[in-house]
Order: sequence, then structure tokens, then C-alpha cells
Amino acid sequence: MSKSNTTGMDHEDFRRCGKDMVDFIADYLTNISERRVTPEVEPGYLRPMLPRNAPEKGESWEDIMKDVERAIMPGITHWQHPRFHAYFPAGNSYPSILAEMLSSGLGIVGFSWAASPACTELEPITLDWLGRMMSLPACFLPFNPAHDNEPEISITNTDCDSQHSGGGALLGSASESILVAMLAARTNKMKSKRLEKPSIEDGQILSKLVCYTSKLAHSCVEKAGLIAMVKVRQLPVDEHYSLRGKTLDECIQADKQKGLIPFFVCGTLGTTSCCSLDNFEELGQICRRENLWFHVDGAYAGAALICNEFQYLTKGFEYVDSFNTNPNKWLLMNFDCSCFWVRDKCAVINAMSVDPLYLQHKHAEKATDLRHWGIALSRRFRSLKLWFTIRSYGIEGLQHYIREHCRLAKVFASLINEDDRFEIIGDVVFGLVCFRLKGKNKLTQKLLLYLNDSGQIHVIPSMVNEIFFIRFAICAKDACEYDMHIAFQIIQTHADGILFEYQKTTSSTSIRKI
Ligand code: PLP
Repeated sequence: MSKSNTTGMDHEDFRRCGKDMVDFIADYLTNISERRVTPEVEPGYLRPMLPRNAPEKGESWEDIMKDVERAIMPGITHWQHPRFHAYFPAGNSYPSILAEMLSSGLGIVGFSWAASPACTELEPITLDWLGRMMSLPACFLPFNPAHDNEPEISITNTDCDSQHSGGGALLGSASESILVAMLAARTNKMKSKRLEKPSIEDGQILSKLVCYTSKLAHSCVEKAGLIAMVKVRQLPVDEHYSLRGKTLDECIQADKQKGLIPFFVCGTLGTTSCCSLDNFEELGQICRRENLWFHVDGAYAGAALICNEFQYLTKGFEYVDSFNTNPNKWLLMNFDCSCFWVRDKCAVINAMSVDPLYLQHKHAEKATDLRHWGIALSRRFRSLKLWFTIRSYGIEGLQHYIREHCRLAKVFASLINEDDRFEIIGDVVFGLVCFRLKGKNKLTQKLLLYLNDSGQIHVIPSMVNEIFFIRFAICAKDACEYDMHIAFQIIQTHADGILFEYQKTTSSTSIRKI
């Protein structure tokens, strides 16, 4: 096809170009290891490569794709590369890509049941599937398991009864899930304070609200606090990098003494810094006693709950009010796909509901409208990703994927342990290994710099209690033992160079001293 017109692409063009695009993606992913992991471009590289103004006339597909190769691909960080070990995995798989394609192709916006019934109904079904796969407490599931054998009843915005008031929805990110939980908790607490003292102003209550999390919690908790305009206490962790009940309790009591109003606690299942776990049982008991909303952020590691051997992590979940995990991190689904479950969906809906005339529809009494679950009105058909991926892999396939990543992390950790120049930081429980060169932080800082500059591997730093270390996350979908050995060889080679240089400088300094 080579044409220049005003109609963009017609159906036939789309068939042909769409097939080309599938080939492009499959080739890219098949041959990805031939590329550098990180690009070599400098900030501002792209603008000089592209015209200053948009084209007056439509351009051909071939020309657009040529520019993808020429200008875009050189600026891509290859998250699916077998040597990408930074952050956490960017979930991806062919079923998920195809689901994205279908979602885009259908081009729907599912803010209410009427705006797209299938989009609205598939979402709680997939959240229910995943919630059951993770053995979440039944109170979180969109469908009450006690009614499994009954003909299905529809779920509505207001069917919160004393028997079962839980539910779940898909949000764009863990940050959004945590913010929504915090806003729901804030609304609850403000309501109860107004009941206690009807003359009190909202602003007076707001200025006293405090939430608590560990200093290792993701920065999105702090950001949620900024948006919700509440104080956030980032509490110290114990020697296992875990937030403990005593620490929380002491801070709550001190705040209450000052006349402040504790209302929300966010625990983490798998911190970003080092994948540590807070003590949910201790924190939960305090939340129950103090009547605080207890959220658990399992953005990455929550996915492990689909494997029985990780069920022990849910100790204390009986106290949890809401929980999030991102299948777009560790369950082979691409961004965006963050699952959010809540014990009392009415708390969320009450905090987020507005109901203009133009969004009302005749089924509102019988159906749920997912716009009440988040900040945005418009919603994509994200649940197709869950549905396609879970069905394509099956529970067993997804469990195998999680277990492989955990196994490979242990393989990598044993390589690190065999070389006594290195040490491991924290426990290796999931697919993350934190390690450093023994000795001063600057050695590990240099190692990190050399590794990333080499373009052979990509890792990122972390620091806990003044100890600087490198996070090595197993990210690639098909990661294997070979990848662990190659990564370790790259790390060893750079460490050899750094330690050699370091020994030279320290010995010349000591000679000079002599
Ligand atoms: N929570 C944890 C534990 C994370 O590791 C991350 C990101 O890595 C987030 C929250 C934020 O995730 P999102 O980008 O989905 O907002």
C-alpha cells in the first residue's frame, strides 16, 4: 500500500496492515535479545528526527512504519528483554496483547451498564475468578460463594447487605487503587465524626486525619495522601524490613494525644525496595481496635497468592478492608490492569458517586455502573485481558509462571552467594533478589552505573537503612536458568573491573601513606 489520502485506512488496509503489525510484534519479541536492553539516546533525541508540524495530507502506512524503525525503536527501553531486571516485570503475553487489540477494535467506553453491558458484566466475573484463584476471603468476592449453586443474581450498585457487601473492579494502576481506598476510608471517617459532632466542619476533620504506612511502602501512598490532603506517617521497619504492630500503635497513640484522627493504614505485601512483607496480623488487630481502614498493597507480590505455598502470606487478611494487585506486573497481562477488591463496596461507591442526568439509564436499579469505582468516568474493556490470559494459560499455567520466577530468583541468589565478594539483602521469597558488593556503598553504586551503561543488562538501585544495593528482578516471561547465568557473568565481569580499580587505588594510597 502506498497512498496519500484523507481517509486514513479502510477495512482492507486494516486487514493487511494489521497482519503486518502482528508480524512486527512477533518478530520484535522473538529477536529481542539481539538488541541492547537500554537505548543509547540522550534526552531530546526525538524532536530533531520528526517534522515540526503534523502532515497536511495523510501518509502511507509504509512511511509511518519506516519512522517507527528509524525514530521510535532507537528510543525504546526493552522491558521484555531477557536481560531486563529492573523495577518489576511489565506483564505481557500474546493472549493479553490480543485482548488489548479486541478492546481497541470494539472501541467501547464502559462507564455504565448501559454504555456496554458485556464490559460491565465481565469485569466482576474476572475479578471473582482471580479472587478465588488467590483464595481471598469470600467477603471480597464480587459474587457470594454461598450462592454458587443458585441461579445468578445481578450485582447492583446498592446490593450491599449484611451477608455480602464485597466486590472488585479494575483500575488503571496500584496508585489509583490505593487512592480510591484512601478516599473511601476518608469519607467513612468524616461521616462518623460528623455523626459524633454535627457542628464540626469538614475542613476541621480533614486537617486532623492521619494515615500510616511503612517507610518502605511505595511512594504512591504518599502521593495518595497529598491528593486526599491528609497527613501520612512513614513508619520505621524491623530488621526484616517489616512494619510491626507495636510501631504502628505507638504512633497512633501519640497522634491521638495530639488530637489527630487516625483513619487509614496501608500495609505492603512485597515492597518495591526489597519485596519485604508487613505484619498484617499485628497491623490488622490494631486497625480493628482503633476502627481504621486497613488496605494491603500487593501490586507485584500479591499475584503469588494463586500458588498454595504462598497462602501463608494472607495471615491477618481477616482484618483487611481492601486489597490490590496488578496482573500487569506479575500475571502476564499488559498495562493497565490493576485489580482492586473491597470488603464493603458501598464505602467506595459512596465516596465516588455523582449521578448526572445524562449518565442515568433505565437499568440503574438492577445493574452496577463501574464509573462509581474510580476517578475516571470512561473505562476501557480491561477485563478482556484477564479473561483471555486466564483462559489461555489456565490456573496451572499461571502458577507455573510464578513458581518459575521464584525458582530462578533462588538460582540467581545461589550464584551470588557462591561469590564471597557479594552479599544478599533481605529474604528471597518472590522473583526479586537484592544484592550488593560487600563494603562501602560506593562500590555497589559504581557497579550499578557500569552495568546500566553497558547496555547488556538493566537493573535499578534501592537503599534501606543507609545500605545501598541493586535490585535484580526476574522479569522476562520465558526467563530460564541460562539467563541467570548470563546475567551473573555480566555482573561478575563488571565487579572484577571495579574491585581491581579499587584495590589499585587503595594500595597506591597506602603506599603513598608509607
Ligand atoms: N505498590 C507497589 C508495591 C509497587 O511496587 C508499585 C510499582 O512498582 C506501585 C504500588 C505503583 O504501581 P502503579 O504503577 O500501578 O501505580
